[in-house]
Amino acid sequence: MKKNVIAIDGPSGAGKSTVAKIVAEKLGYFYLNTGAMYRAVALFLKQKGKTPDDTITEEDLKGLDIDFDEKGNIYLNGENVSDKILTPEISKLASDFSKIPVVRKILTEQQRKIGSSRPSVLEGRDIGTVVFPDAKYKFFLDASAEERARRRYKQLKEKNPKMEISFEEILKQQKERDKQDSSRDIAPLKKADDAVYIDTTGMEIEDVVKKILKIVKG
Ligand code: C5P
Repeated sequence: MKKNVIAIDGPSGAGKSTVAKIVAEKLGYFYLNTGAMYRAVALFLKQKGKTPDDTITEEDLKGLDIDFDEKGNIYLNGENVSDKILTPEISKLASDFSKIPVVRKILTEQQRKIGSSRPSVLEGRDIGTVVFPDAKYKFFLDASAEERARRRYKQLKEKNPKMEISFEEILKQQKERDKQDSSRDIAPLKKADDAVYIDTTGMEIEDVVKKILKIVKG
């Protein structure tokens, strides 16, 4: 039987988080941002002085405790790190550490546990392909690289107007991250064969949400 899971995958800035959150709210489903989990692990390992070039073992991840509240805030060992994990530095580290097998193993297990315990919307890179290949509904959100970088730039500037980073730099970092996420050996960013592809370039958020809900509600 298929899992009561809605999988929303896609590259950075495709609108996954905003769309997934609203879809979950409208359906009364649990919302899980798996990218935030990889970001929290990156912060955890960074705080321990680890770099992506180090060999990371299960031992290094002992004591890692990730939790969410109903508003979608993420807690790392009790601390609300929702804003702390949004920096360009953590974006890069999350992508670097997410290539490491033991990191993926631990987070994939946690994601399956959470998604199996109640009807959920999970967003990420490998939800429809690896975490829940048996998800009832799968979507792959995409948009042009420029539009995605524009959205990310706006989001970062809104959170921190003093942030000294240019649009060109965001675009460059985004391209590097997408390339790395799509070309890694384990669980690369990839559309599942049975996922519905939605190009959100020029689309309003509410229209993307409507499109998804129409398919889910039938
Ligand atoms: O979605 P977000 O940009 O917050 O994800 C940060 C990073 O975490 C991605 O660039 C990717 O490397 C990693 N990630 C992943 N698998 C997921 C979600 C995120 O590898 N399911």
